[in-house]
Amino acid sequence: MMVLPKINYLFSLIPNKPPAAWFKSLDSNISQFLWKNKPSRISLKTLQKPKNNGGLELPNFYNYFLANRLQYISKWIKPDLLDSPWLDLEQAFCRKTKLSDLPYISSNIKRHDTFKSLSINSSLTAWWEFLKLTQSPLIPCKLTPIWNNPDICQNKKVLNFTSWREKGIKNLEHVIKEGNFITFQELISEYGINNSKFLEYQQLKSIIQERFNPNQLNLEISTWVTEFLNLCAPKLLSKLYKLLLKFDDSISLPIAKWERDLSINQDQSFWTEICSNIFKISKSPNLQLIQYKVLHRVHYTGQRMFQMGLAQSNICTHCTANVTDNYLHAIWDCRPVQMFWHRICTDLSTWLKCCIPTSPRLCILGDISELDANTSHIVLTALCIAKKTILINWKQKKDLHITLYKNLLFDHISLERMSASSKNQLEEFNSLWLPLINSTS
Ligand SMILES: [Zn+2]
Repeated sequence: MMVLPKINYLFSLIPNKPPAAWFKSLDSNISQFLWKNKPSRISLKTLQKPKNNGGLELPNFYNYFLANRLQYISKWIKPDLLDSPWLDLEQAFCRKTKLSDLPYISSNIKRHDTFKSLSINSSLTAWWEFLKLTQSPLIPCKLTPIWNNPDICQNKKVLNFTSWREKGIKNLEHVIKEGNFITFQELISEYGINNSKFLEYQQLKSIIQERFNPNQLNLEISTWVTEFLNLCAPKLLSKLYKLLLKFDDSISLPIAKWERDLSINQDQSFWTEICSNIFKISKSPNLQLIQYKVLHRVHYTGQRMFQMGLAQSNICTHCTANVTDNYLHAIWDCRPVQMFWHRICTDLSTWLKCCIPTSPRLCILGDISELDANTSHIVLTALCIAKKTILINWKQKKDLHITLYKNLLFDHISLERMSASSKNQLEEFNSLWLPLINSTS
């Protein structure tokens, strides 16, 4: 998509957060483009999800905005040489507070001059949103800075014990061990703190215990934040975007309807596999999209048309069963369709010398778990072409005929051969398709 790099370029240059209405209008324009100004049959939110979760990985612009801002947080914490000129500028805004400490300071920082920098302001706001989305409270945590932190003040003044800092005491993890404040003796033996600093020790201990409830001190950081801290260049933006996509790992497919119709009850891994099988079908985007749309049940059936007030009855007119023309009936149970599926599975079993059951799990959902790995790719593709044939005859199911199927199949094989020939991959093409070509000729 050509729009994405252009918008990403703007996000990386302009720190201001665009208003919510701007993101909404962008999404709405994309939906209108995709569905040609008609109502969406699959929500944009679903289309933006990862492919294994029922999406098509369309860009989520809001997440790209967040990822762009989060890049700066990552560079504050792990600066590299090229970043030093602008990091110096931002550090100057923070005065004594270290730039790399800002992510571990609460929103108290809003009252300080640091927050007046537009760039720091928008990066921190994005960071707080990341923490909120991942439900990762960081105040306090083991990396909470002790010095120059507006969360740890005495008489409204931040603490800064220079000699302590020089000895390596910087964060809460250095003074709190297993839920208890470190003893003065441990400080001396572990960090070499001078004996004369007992008063400062008492001062620090009482401030920290007063500020953070010692009984509820959980200094661990969440796995999301740990994952964020582990990300680094190259391709940092893309890694951050993928991390944001991972928050919602639910599968957006009409799973309940499929499970009810096919009398199955499967776990999440089954449906993840079904989603990923879409992209194993063939390199042909046309076939992949057909399988994607079938799984999402986007095609209008007689029942749907009736519900929309566009048909007189919800009863199937393609057979004499006198039943509701719902999605499973239209694509599987309706008599002409059922006969077609039987013929397809019988012919494919003969052509490929294997057993392809006439089962909706395999034919409709694309569950290839019981097929031989060598033939599964070709079977998925051949069954998807069967679905294409059904969809071409969606309104005239009685015209559904094996000849049309064979024509579409051979057209596809010709395309595959041309593509393989142009890439010098004829050998792989032959090993995959020749058994089928030889059996049908
Ligand atoms: Zn029917």
